[in-house]
Amino acid sequence: MSSDGPTLNDESYAAAKRGGTGHSHGHGHTHRHGGGPAHSHPLTPGQEAHASGRRAGSHAVSDHDHDHDHAEPATGAGHDFDLPDLPSAVDVFDTTLRDGSQQEGLSLTVDDKLRVAEQLDHLGVTFIEGGWPGANPKDAEFFARAPKELHLERATLVAFGSTRRAGVRAEDDETLRHLVDAQTEAVCIVAKSSEMHVVDALRTTLDEAVAMVADSVAFLRANDLRVFLDAEHFFDGYRANPEFTLRILQAAEEAGAETLVLCDTNGGTLPYEVERIVGTVLGRFETQVGVHFHNDSGCAVANSLAGVSVGATHVQGCVNGYGERSGNADLASVVPDLSLKLRVATIPAERLPLLTPVAHHIAELVNIAPNPQQPFVGASVFAHKAGLHTSAIARRSDAYEHISPDLVGNGTRFVVSEMAGRSTLVMKAAELGLELDSDAMTSVLDSLKQLEYEGYHFEVADGSLELLLRNSTGWRQPFFELDSYRVIADQGEDLSTEATVKVRVGDERIVATAEGNGPVNALDGALRAAIGPRYPALEGVHLVDYRVRVLDSAKGTGSVTRVLIDSTDGDRTWTTIGVSENIIAASWQALSDSVVYGLLHTVVAGA
Ligand SMILES: [Zn+2]
Repeated sequence: MSSDGPTLNDESYAAAKRGGTGHSHGHGHTHRHGGGPAHSHPLTPGQEAHASGRRAGSHAVSDHDHDHDHAEPATGAGHDFDLPDLPSAVDVFDTTLRDGSQQEGLSLTVDDKLRVAEQLDHLGVTFIEGGWPGANPKDAEFFARAPKELHLERATLVAFGSTRRAGVRAEDDETLRHLVDAQTEAVCIVAKSSEMHVVDALRTTLDEAVAMVADSVAFLRANDLRVFLDAEHFFDGYRANPEFTLRILQAAEEAGAETLVLCDTNGGTLPYEVERIVGTVLGRFETQVGVHFHNDSGCAVANSLAGVSVGATHVQGCVNGYGERSGNADLASVVPDLSLKLRVATIPAERLPLLTPVAHHIAELVNIAPNPQQPFVGASVFAHKAGLHTSAIARRSDAYEHISPDLVGNGTRFVVSEMAGRSTLVMKAAELGLELDSDAMTSVLDSLKQLEYEGYHFEVADGSLELLLRNSTGWRQPFFELDSYRVIADQGEDLSTEATVKVRVGDERIVATAEGNGPVNALDGALRAAIGPRYPALEGVHLVDYRVRVLDSAKGTGSVTRVLIDSTDGDRTWTTIGVSENIIAASWQALSDSVVYGLLHTVVAGA
C-alpha cells in the first residue's frame, strides 16, 4: 500500500480547510471530517495538517511564514539524511487519567486527577481524556467538578465510553447517556473492531457491531459532541479480517466521527506492520487517523512514530507511559522524538522545556517514583560518570548526549548535581519577575545542587523553589520568626498529637498550642492559632495533600524523609518541600514554606 500517506479528496478537504482555519471559536465555521454531519469547532493543528497534506520536509517548513510551533532540530540531533515525508503537526491526546490509571498500583483521587489535568494542560497537550463517567463514581465526580474547578487554557477535555450495547437503541443506552451528561465538548468511544472479539466476547454479529458504531456516533453527533472512535484490537483484527475492520471505520466516518483511532490493544504489533496497516487505512479514508499503542512488544513509542511517518496526525499515549501491563506509549518520548528529531509539531515548541518538570510532577501526583532511566526526562539520562567522559562533555556537550538536555527541561548532571538545567531556572526567575544576575544564578544553582543531593526535589515543589529564588535576591520572609516548636504524641485511649509553636511577629512573642490527628495537622493548627489573628488572609489557605517518602541511603547521607505538602487558596495551588532525617523537622519545613508562600501571595498581592 502507499507509504505516501493519505489519498485526499481535494474537494472535501478544500472545504474542510476553508471552514477550519477561521480563528473564531465555536460557531459560524463548519467543515466535514468524513461523510458525516458538519462540525463547527476549529480544526486542531493535526487536523489542519491532515487536511492540507502539508509535509514537514525542509521546503514545507521554510515556506510556512509564521510557524512558531516548529522546534528547530535539536543541537546534536540533526540528521544529515532527508527526513521522510511527514505531517507538519500531530494532535497529542493524553489518556493518563483513563487508560493510564489502569496501571497496577496507580490510584488517583478526584483531586489528584484535577491536578494531573492541570499539569497536562500546562504542558500543552491537545486533548486530555479524563475518564469513563459511566464506569465509576470517581470519574463521574471528576466530570461534575471539572467545569468549575478545572480551567484549561489550551487542552480540550474528553470523556471516554463505549458504543451502545448490542440490541439496544442508542437513545436508550446508559453509557451513551453518561457521555452526553458529562458535558464535555468531545468524547472518545471504544468500538470492537476485531471479528474474534465481536463473535467470542460480544457474542453478536458483525453487522450488529457495525450498526453499533454507526448508531452511537450518529447519536453523539446529534447531541453536538465531537467524536473520536477508538477502534479496539484494530491491528489484530485487521490481520485476521481486514474487510470487517475497515467496515467499522467506514461506519464511523459516515456517521461523522472526527478521528479514527487505530488501537493496538494487546500491544503485540511491530513497526513495519504499523506502517503498512496505517498507510492502508489512510489510503482508504478521508477522516483524520490516530494511533494508540500499548508497549507489550517494547515498541509503543516506535509504533507511534511509524504511524505518524505514514500520515497519522493524532497520537494517544500517557506522559510517563503509564498503563496496564507494560503501559501505553510514553508521550514523554513521543513528543520530543516528533518535535525535536522529526520536526513534526506536537506541543507548542516553547513548552518543550516543561517536559521534565511536568513528567516528574505527574509522577509525584500518581505517587510512583520516576524511573531514572526514562528517556529524555529521567534523572540519569544525561548523567555522566567521572573520568574521560566528564571532561570531554565539559568541552563538547554533544559528544555524549543525543540532544541538549535543556531542550526538554532536563539537565546534564555531573556526579552530584541533579538539578534541572540553568535555562529552566532562568525561565522560572523571569516568570516570577525576579532579576538574578549571573553570579546570583550560579550561587542558586550551587545551593540547589547541594540541596538536591540531600534529597530535595524542587522540580515538584514550585512553592519552595520560588522562596529559594527570592531568598537569593536578599529577600527574607517578613511574616513571622520561629523561636521553637514542640510536638507530643500521646497514646492514651486514643492516639492524640499536640503541638506548641513559639513565634515572633514583629515585636510580639506568641505561644500557641493545638491538637491534631498527626504532627503536620497539629503544627499547622498551632501556627495558625499563633499568627492567624495577625493575618486573616490565612483563613483562605488550606493544606490539601501531604505526602511522605523515605529516601534510601544511596547518596551516602543515611536515610532521610521527604515531605511534600500541597496547599491552595482556592485559586492557585502550590507545593512545598521539607527534607530531614527527622519527619517532624521535614514536616515543619514544608509547612512553614506553605504558609509563607500563601501569605506572600495573598497578603502582599491581595492587600
Ligand atoms: Zn489502551
